[in-house]
Amino acid sequence: MGGKNVAVIGAGWAGCAAAVELARAGHQVTLFEAARTLGGRARRVATDRRQLDNGQHILLGAYRETLRLMALLGVSREAALLDLPLQMRYAPHAGGMDFVAPRLPAPLHLLVALLRAKGLARADKMSLARFSSTARWMGWQLHKDCSVSELLQRFDQTDRLIQLMWRPLCLAALNTPPERASAQVFLNVLRDSLGAKRAASDMLLPRVDLSALLPDAAAAYIKQRGGTVRSGAKVRRLQRQADDAKAGADAAGSWRLEVSGEAVGGTWSAAFDGVVLACAPPQAAVLLHEIADTEAGVAQLCVQLTAFEAESITTCYLQYDPALRLDLPMYALVDAPERYHWGQFVFDRGQLDAAQAGLLAVVVSASAEAAAMAQPLLAEAIAVQLATVFERPELGTPQWFKVITEKRATFACTPGLQRPANATGLAGLAIAGDYTAGDYPATLESAVRSGVTAAAGLWDAPRRPG
Ligand SMILES: Cc1cc2nc3c(=O)[nH]c(=O)nc-3n(C[C@H](O)[C@H](O)[C@H](O)COP(=O)(O)OP(=O)(O)OC[C@H]3O[C@@H](n4cnc5c(N)ncnc54)[C@H](O)[C@@H]3O)c2cc1C
Repeated sequence: MGGKNVAVIGAGWAGCAAAVELARAGHQVTLFEAARTLGGRARRVATDRRQLDNGQHILLGAYRETLRLMALLGVSREAALLDLPLQMRYAPHAGGMDFVAPRLPAPLHLLVALLRAKGLARADKMSLARFSSTARWMGWQLHKDCSVSELLQRFDQTDRLIQLMWRPLCLAALNTPPERASAQVFLNVLRDSLGAKRAASDMLLPRVDLSALLPDAAAAYIKQRGGTVRSGAKVRRLQRQADDAKAGADAAGSWRLEVSGEAVGGTWSAAFDGVVLACAPPQAAVLLHEIADTEAGVAQLCVQLTAFEAESITTCYLQYDPALRLDLPMYALVDAPERYHWGQFVFDRGQLDAAQAGLLAVVVSASAEAAAMAQPLLAEAIAVQLATVFERPELGTPQWFKVITEKRATFACTPGLQRPANATGLAGLAIAGDYTAGDYPATLESAVRSGVTAAAGLWDAPRRPG
C-alpha cells in the first residue's frame, strides 16, 4: 500500500507522530498547520520578553511511544530531557513532605522512598503502602469507574496523603480535580509509573523548547523523505470526492482539502488519497461536518467530538536576577486558593537551560479560578507564595512576569468518559489526538500514541467509531 498521497491536518504532537509514521512507511505526506509554530498545545511561543513555552510540561519514563519517536528523529534524550527520579518534594517551609524514589529496581524504589519520606506520619505511610498493594492486587482495574475522591475514600487514604500526594498527582496527570476525575484513568497512569519498572516512573523535564523537543525534528524528517510541511496553512474544508470526479485525469485522491493562509499564497485546494485529522475535537468536528451529512457514523462521531469539556492550565513565568537559583529543579507547592496560594509546582528553568537562568515557571492546573484573576494580581500572589514557602523575600519581587493560560489545555478527564476510536468508519480517513480512546488522560504520550495508531490503521477495513 506504499506511496500514497496523504494529508495530515494539525501539527500538534499527534499530527507530527502520524505524519512521521506515514512518511516512514513510504507515503508522500503533506502536514498542514494553521499556526506558524509547530507543536499545538506543546509549543514554543515568542513573547515581548523572551521565547517561552506555552506551558511547562513534564514527561514520564513511561512515555514509551514519545521516547521511541524522539529517538527515531535523532533527538538525544540526554541533551533534551533532564531525568529525575519519581518525587514529590515540597518547598522547605510549605509544611509539605519530601518523597523521592531512589534509583533501585521496582518495587524497592517505592518501598525505600516510603521508609525515607519526611513529613509523613506512620499512618500516612501505611495508607500509601495500602493503596499501592490494593491497586496491584486489583490489577489496577476497577469494575466500574468512579471519581478519584471516591477511590481514595474506598482505599482509606489519610487527609494528609490526599492533600500532599494524591490531589497534586491527580491535578498534574489528569488536569481535573479529584472530585471530578476518572479513578480508572488515574490508576492507569499510576500502574505505568508507580507500579512499573523504576525507569518508567522517572520524571523528565524538557531542557529545550517544546517545539524543538519533537515537532521541529518531525518536520525535518518528513521533508527528508520528500514530504511537505506547511505552517500558517489552515484547512477550511474537507470533502469526500465523488467517484466520477476521482476518475478524471488529474484527480488523484478520495479527499479534497481547501486550505488558506500565507503559506499557500491565499487559497489552495488539492486532493489526497488519505487524511489524518489531527486537530482538537472542536476543529475536527467542524471539518467533518460535510461528510457527516451523508455518513451516519461520522455524524455520530461529530456528536461525540462536541461533547468534550475543556480544562485550563496556567503557567506563570517569573524572571529574577540570573544568579537566583532554587536548590532543586522542581518543587511541589501546597495550593490554598483561600490564601491566594495558587501555585502547585515550581520549576527552576535555569537548571534546565543555562540561557534561562533566573526564570521560574509556576504551574496551576485546572486553573479556571486563578485564570479569572487579573494577570498582574495572579503573578504577584504567586511571587508572594514563593517568597513565603521558600522564606526568600527576593522571590516576592520578580523583574518581570508572563502569565500564559491555555483555556482548552486538556479535556476534562471524568469517570466513564467515552472517547472515540481513531477509525472514522471510512477507509483513508482517521482522527488523531490526545482525546481518542486510550489508557491515558490528555498528555503528550496519548497524542503520540493516537497519531501512531491513526497512521497504522488509515486504510484498514472501515470500522464504526467506538
Ligand atoms: C499548558 C499545558 C500544560 C500541559 N502539561 C502537560 C504535561 O506536563 N505533560 C503532558 O504529557 N501533557 C501536558 N499537556 C497536554 C499536552 O500538551 C496535550 O495533550 C498535547 O499537546 C495534545 O496534542 P494533540 O496533537 O492531540 O493536539 P493539539 O496540540 O491541539 O494539536 C492540534 C493542532 O491542529 C492545529 N489545527 C487546528 N485546526 C486546524 C486546521 N483547520 N488546519 C490546520 N491546522 C489546524 C492546531 O493549531 C494544533 O496545532 C499540557 C497542555 C497544556 C496546554
